[in-house]
Amino acid sequence: MSKVMLITGAGRGIGAATARLAAQRGYAVAVNYRSDDASAKGVVADIEAAGGRAITVRADVADEADILAMFETVDRELGRLDVLVNNAGVVDQVSRVEDMDFARIDRMMRINVTGPFICAREAIKRMAKRHGGQGGAIVNVGSAASHLGGADEYVDYAASKGAIDTMTEGLAKEVAGDGIRVNTVRPGVVRTTIHASGGNPEKTDVADAVIPMGRVGEPEEIAEGVLWLAGAGFTTGALVDIDGGV
Ligand code: NAP
Repeated sequence: MSKVMLITGAGRGIGAATARLAAQRGYAVAVNYRSDDASAKGVVADIEAAGGRAITVRADVADEADILAMFETVDRELGRLDVLVNNAGVVDQVSRVEDMDFARIDRMMRINVTGPFICAREAIKRMAKRHGGQGGAIVNVGSAASHLGGADEYVDYAASKGAIDTMTEGLAKEVAGDGIRVNTVRPGVVRTTIHASGGNPEKTDVADAVIPMGRVGEPEEIAEGVLWLAGAGFTTGALVDIDGGV
């Protein structure tokens, strides 16, 4: 039986690269997305064409009912969950904090913090030995922004990723005895569409100059870290920087 991996926000970018690599490594993959059906279906078609197994699952991670339905779909169609990858996340327009309204910060925290917590909760209910499960792994996609701070750009986003770092430290300890490992990759700037969606499409060009290694990362390089943490038997509570040295 294949191990089962649910990846939130896997229709594009880092999540899509992780889905493709996971399928190559033998996982049956649930590809979650919010609205871009065509991209998510494209990821599943690529996986199936290569002989792998995958399904699409539409759900907004800012909506609890959607999350519950997503996990039920994975239970029904792929079976017992082994790995949750909390990858879905957003940035917003470049802004100073004094110009941010309540709705922006609330949306940021719902998608980047509350969503991963509720997904982790549902994964733990299925994987924890105390609930009759067989253990598993949670891998979060954080960000180098959590230690850089995002000044003059997106302090709200950086703070949301800081919450993911802290969740990793605490939850790893809380569920270690249940056979669940919790780890986080912290990418630096990666070549995906997230920057254009935040109104900052030139970020990957500008970033080359300030990254010690002189280039931005590729989604496949982050996917390698996620897959390593998914299977790294003695690693938990780790924050793994994949960022070109920032
Ligand atoms: P991306 O290219 O913008 O792709 C985002 C994916 O997440 C899409 O599949 C999107 O679905 C999905 N998504 C967005 N909001 C969602 C929601 N509310 N519910 C469910 N799915 C949602 O992003 P990315 O650059 O790959 O980023 C992935 C993760 O890496 C994020 O957590 C981000 O913060 C983190 N990260 C990225 C970078 C970077 O430079 N790219 C750096 C550090 C950390 P649709 O396709 O349906 O819109």
